[in-house]
Amino acid sequence: MIGDSSRRDELAANLAVLEQRVQAACAAAGRARDEITVIAVTKTFPASDIRLLASLGITDIGENRDQEAAPKVAACADLPVTWHFVGRLQTNKCRSVATYADVVHSIDRPHLVDALAAAAQRSTREIACLVQVSLDNRPARGGAEPPDVPGIAARVAGTARLRLAGVMAIAPLDSPARTAFGRLAAVAATVRTEFPGASVISAGMSGDLDDAIACGATHVRVGTALLGSRAPVR
Ligand SMILES: *Cc1c(COP(=O)(O)O)cnc(C)c1O
Repeated sequence: MIGDSSRRDELAANLAVLEQRVQAACAAAGRARDEITVIAVTKTFPASDIRLLASLGITDIGENRDQEAAPKVAACADLPVTWHFVGRLQTNKCRSVATYADVVHSIDRPHLVDALAAAAQRSTREIACLVQVSLDNRPARGGAEPPDVPGIAARVAGTARLRLAGVMAIAPLDSPARTAFGRLAAVAATVRTEFPGASVISAGMSGDLDDAIACGATHVRVGTALLGSRAPVR
């Protein structure tokens, strides 16, 4: 298995560099390393990579498309990992996603809360939910406008089998990540005044995780910096 062991070495090396970065960002922000969970976003990479990452100590795996995620989760059913669904979610995919996702990061409209709740009920699972916050007025990238977030959060919190865990955002394309993540932190604080348990802030990807940690992120979603660059989708 030469191929596999060299891929393992490559992932281990990437993980070591990433770990240094996370530690430096925590030190700069005066935060403890254990406040941050690294989610490895494995989209476009094979289930064998998820297996290698788990063997290297990664406990949290993210995927963004149900068609790809469902078979990979099935192939890795024996692994002790927490599965995060981080992509835009269509209501007609809720039934499938609810069978495997432990955390859904992309709750951004009331109708989606209701569809996911019905699916969670059907699969008799509890799903942790993050309300995705739009930081850039680009509806195609998903997320609720900040004034709409408390209402969506309350709808999640009031729904059986869904647990309000916090908020998520993707940095805007056209303004500094740190400014945007600062706005996310303010939205998160507003949500916590009503729901103190909603402590998760999922923010930061390979390019901007340092800014996210500076602004209070508890979960960073890392693809490229761990797995390498992705082949373009379609
Ligand atoms: C792909 C993806 C990531 C990881 O992006 P990288 O820049 O490769 O680290 C994070 N979050 C979401 C929602 C994604 O779709």
